Amino acid sequence: MAEIKLQSLAHSYDKTAAEPSYAIREMTHTWEQGGAFALLGPSGCGKSTLLNIISGLLKPSDGEVLFDGRVMNDVSPQERNIAQVFQFPVVYDTMSVYDNLAFPLRNMGTKADKVDKKVREIAQILELDSVLKQKAFNLSADEKQKVSMGRGLVRDDVSAILFDEPLTVIDPHLKWKLRRKLKQIHEQFKITMVYVTHDQLEASTFADKIAVMYDGQVVQFGTPRELFERPNHTFVGYFIGSPGMNLLPVSFKDEHLLFQGHSLPISKHELDALAGSNSKNVKIGIRPEFIHVWEHAQENAMQAEVLHLEDLGSYKILSLRVGTTDLKARLLEDQKVPEHQAYISFPEQWQMLYVDEYLVAKENSDA
Ligand code: ADP
Ligand code: MG
Repeated sequence: MAEIKLQSLAHSYDKTAAEPSYAIREMTHTWEQGGAFALLGPSGCGKSTLLNIISGLLKPSDGEVLFDGRVMNDVSPQERNIAQVFQFPVVYDTMSVYDNLAFPLRNMGTKADKVDKKVREIAQILELDSVLKQKAFNLSADEKQKVSMGRGLVRDDVSAILFDEPLTVIDPHLKWKLRRKLKQIHEQFKITMVYVTHDQLEASTFADKIAVMYDGQVVQFGTPRELFERPNHTFVGYFIGSPGMNLLPVSFKDEHLLFQGHSLPISKHELDALAGSNSKNVKIGIRPEFIHVWEHAQENAMQAEVLHLEDLGSYKILSLRVGTTDLKARLLEDQKVPEHQAYISFPEQWQMLYVDEYLVAKENSDA
């Protein structure tokens, strides 16, 4: 097991071009030893590139990969001692399931009795015991991917296990079960695990901490709750949650934060940050869950036009318009639904300020 640190890491697939493009933009990030992590982001943001750099399949064009402080850039994938599970199954079709699972262990010169014990243990967790003797080519796509995962999981001496969207080909019903099993395996063996996905639900059910990746960089690394309550970047606000955070353009004038003519609360620290910035890209972020909604006028509430109501069973999504800006509020099942007009307010605690897409802290953290 190891702590994995990416130091000033960047990667360009066309580094020698006149204007190289970067799949990973310079970043420094640490995966602490023994954690269950997710790497979450949309397709094309650089997740696979990052995993392949960690495992050594790809050599980064800039920066360093360190395992427990040791630079690994020139160390081969085998020597890095990392197990990697890919999106599509990697199995030896002509070998039995048993031999497929035993392969990584035998490769390391593990004694036969230990191989047998470990193969049976993992086969049992993944519910492959009944097919151990079958040749892999006879298996269904689901079973093949389970074998592929099992090959990543049999060794408990690895530095880390990397999963690159491993459940893509798995049936939805089985997906949930396998995710639970992975978590169970993590709890049992405490191996550093990094699980790549573009699905926020998958990320938050597996991981204790999630790195949200956007456009080649990790824009936030935190618990599911931190990502929900304090998105560090507008992308995190938008990507996490259902629906995502409302991101509303605001202006700053005479020490007031203005949204469609309404003055919004602002902390001293936020005020100072705005006063010291020339940016015109200023937004507030408020989650649909946190907006207060009334049927009748309230002190300090803004008037909003009700556009649409979507009933999703245990909750409802109300689409609203304030001035020229649309936003969404999430109502509980038993909450009164305003019909044409609504009155809304943003509780100060949940109103986040973003300048150039990054969160401005409410308080000075050094104070
Ligand atoms: P993800 O796994 O998040 O979908 P990738 O790491 O596969 O993202 O890709 C990140 C970016 O790098 C994309 O713009 C993709 O087109 C590019 N890319 C990935 N692999 C290669 C490659 N072998 N050669 C050139 N560009 C690549
Ligand atoms: Mg990928």
